Amino acid sequence: MNAFDELNSMLRRAHLLGTVSDLLAWDEQVNLPDGSTELRAEQRAVMAETQHAAAVETRIGAALATLEKSPDALSDEQRTVLRWARRDYDRETKLPEAFVREKAEQGSRAYHAWAEARAASDFARYAPYLEKNVELARREAAYLGFGDRTYDYLIDRHDPGMTAAAIDRLFTELKTELVPLVRAIVGSPVQPRTDWMRGFPEDPQERFLREVTERIGFDYSHGRVDRAVHPFCSGTGLDVRMTTRFHVDNPLDSLFSAIHESGHGLYDQGLRADQHHTALGQAVGMGVHESQSRLWENQVARSRGFWRYFEPRWRDLFSEQLRGVSSDELYLAVNAVRPTLIRVDADEVTYNLHIVLRFEIERRLFSGELAVPELPAAWNQLSDSLLGLRPGNDAEGVLQDVHWSDGAFGYFPSYCVGNMMAAQLWYRALELRPRLEDEFAAGDFSWLLGWLREVVHRHGKRFLTLELVEQSTGEPLSPKYLIRYLKERYGPLYLP
Ligand code: ZN
Repeated sequence: MNAFDELNSMLRRAHLLGTVSDLLAWDEQVNLPDGSTELRAEQRAVMAETQHAAAVETRIGAALATLEKSPDALSDEQRTVLRWARRDYDRETKLPEAFVREKAEQGSRAYHAWAEARAASDFARYAPYLEKNVELARREAAYLGFGDRTYDYLIDRHDPGMTAAAIDRLFTELKTELVPLVRAIVGSPVQPRTDWMRGFPEDPQERFLREVTERIGFDYSHGRVDRAVHPFCSGTGLDVRMTTRFHVDNPLDSLFSAIHESGHGLYDQGLRADQHHTALGQAVGMGVHESQSRLWENQVARSRGFWRYFEPRWRDLFSEQLRGVSSDELYLAVNAVRPTLIRVDADEVTYNLHIVLRFEIERRLFSGELAVPELPAAWNQLSDSLLGLRPGNDAEGVLQDVHWSDGAFGYFPSYCVGNMMAAQLWYRALELRPRLEDEFAAGDFSWLLGWLREVVHRHGKRFLTLELVEQSTGEPLSPKYLIRYLKERYGPLYLP
């Protein structure tokens, strides 16, 4: 076997082990009996060890070293595989074992401290754990060759190639336009009716969701949707496991979160099936993944065209509940904007400001401008200036998200990068296919999916996030398309 074949087969083995772990995690959320959680924890721990051992096999290191000696002997695609395999291998092997153990133990302690502090709305109780997490992140970045550029490392982990400076430029431009737009919408006398959103039985909601996801192109012969407390999408393109939940009094929330997860699933299903174990068949990063979920959730499923096609069926299933609700009222409810202190409850317009806030805090925390004890005050002040809302306590402010307790810094910006990329892809699609929404109105979503397969999905990790945006849209990533989209969609509704 030559070195490349050997590398390929070891990557495949590590990948397959990962898919088994994913399946166990999915099953835990969907099917696991209450009494079996300890067994599952042990099963997952064994799988994690096995997976790690497969990923750090010295034979992988040897194959990489051999191949790196004569890169010219490799094809373009093989070089892409090699580059990413090296990056993954280094991340698996460069952290000392004692550090990995310390981080895992600290993660679980910090999670419990966060949960207690949030329940008591008492940031001071959590602060020492957060300080420790920041210190661990700094050490990790140093181990992996980022020196003191800790925040760049943390961002790069989620969006390869992206830096804090690049995000800062994008967000500064975004915020300048978005803050006044949000102020204008919030001040609008137009308010969506919500009184009718009551008593939508779960079964017809589930039927409708199935029809929508099939229609937009989700392949049920390689995936399924089940119910779980938290919606998520896992698995690989050959076996996508999505979950959703249904609220009888908030059918739109259920619908859009499920369409969001389907967007993730469509991306996974569009990745090269013969290459799921290598960089050629894997998602670039979180930002690109979010661009796919949000494009389907927002640009597509909140469009007039989409509702022109699906509204009759929705009324069919929920004729009682929708009696007396006009099409315009329904469409306004689909595009409701209401600022809230809580990120996970935010609409797509104000959501981006929640992300800008978190980015500014993280950036200043890692540059040393802000110390951990100063976070609540900084948070509240930013919340006021960006959203026009001031948290009444830490639970609805700085303590609301779980991410930092697990050391997941640098993760939030991806959501907004995804929103910007989604809008930019959308306008490029409209340029190529001006009558796209008419096709939606006729129930045809195939052109859009085919195009995304072509310009995004099939590339896997061949391009970094920003390169992929440029490749697929012909321009560098810019917030101007997100602003344009929000103005064009929400302006006519709220600022007539
Ligand atoms: Zn998502």
